[in-house]
Amino acid sequence: MKRLTFFFSVLTFLTFSSFAHAALQFDSNVQPALKQQILEDFAFIQSIKSTQASPMHQKVFGTVDGTNYFNWFTKRVFSVGIDDCGSASAVACVIVMYANKIWMTKNYTQFNHPQIARLSVIYHEARHTEAQNGNWSHASCPTPYRNAQGQDMKSIWTGALLAGKPACDITAFGSYGSATIFLKNIGKYCTTCTDKVKADADLYGSDQLGRIIDPKSKKNMIADFAIPYKK
Ligand SMILES: [Zn+2]
Repeated sequence: MKRLTFFFSVLTFLTFSSFAHAALQFDSNVQPALKQQILEDFAFIQSIKSTQASPMHQKVFGTVDGTNYFNWFTKRVFSVGIDDCGSASAVACVIVMYANKIWMTKNYTQFNHPQIARLSVIYHEARHTEAQNGNWSHASCPTPYRNAQGQDMKSIWTGALLAGKPACDITAFGSYGSATIFLKNIGKYCTTCTDKVKADADLYGSDQLGRIIDPKSKKNMIADFAIPYKK
C-alpha cells in the first residue's frame, strides 16, 4: 500500500463540534479520546475569522476563515480511520487506495504540540488526498541538509534528521507548502486568535517553510506572506 505519511511527526487531539461531528465519519475502532480531540480541533478551526489572506492562501483556501477551512477539509476528507501508517513515529497518513480518507496513529494523542500545529498536520494530510494532483508526493530532502547556520535540519515534531528523507517538497502548493501557507496566514491575519495561537502558527509555519527545497518556490512564498490579498 502506498502511504503518504506525515513524516516523523506526532499529534494529539481534543473536543467537540456538532458540525464537524456530522460531516466527518469515524471508523468504529477510532478511540473516543482521539475522536474527541479531532472534533475539538475542528471546533477551533471553524472559529477563525479574518477578511484577509496572502494571494497564495487566497488561491488554496480563500480568506483566513473557519468556514473556508472546514469546507476545504470536508471536500477532501470524508472519513477518519486508525492505522500505523507504516512507521512507529508517524502521526497520520493517507493511503492512496482509500480515497477521501485520513488515517491516524496512536501518536496522535501522544503528541505534545500546539493545537494549531496539530491542525496543520491534518491539513497536510488532507492535501495528500488530491489524486488529481498525484497526491502531492514528497521530494527527498538533500543530503546533507543544513540550515543557514550550518546545523543539520531536523523535524520539529520528533527531532529526526531530515537529510535524504522523503520529507521535503519542491512546490509551494503541496502538503508542506499548503500547510505552511495555512500557518503563516493564521499567524498574520487571524483576528479571533490569541497572541499565543498566532505566535505558534508563525513559528511552526516558519519551520515547515524549511521543507520547501526549491529556492524559487521558497522565495515566492516568503514574498507572498508579505502581501495581503486585495479583492
Ligand atoms: Zn506528507
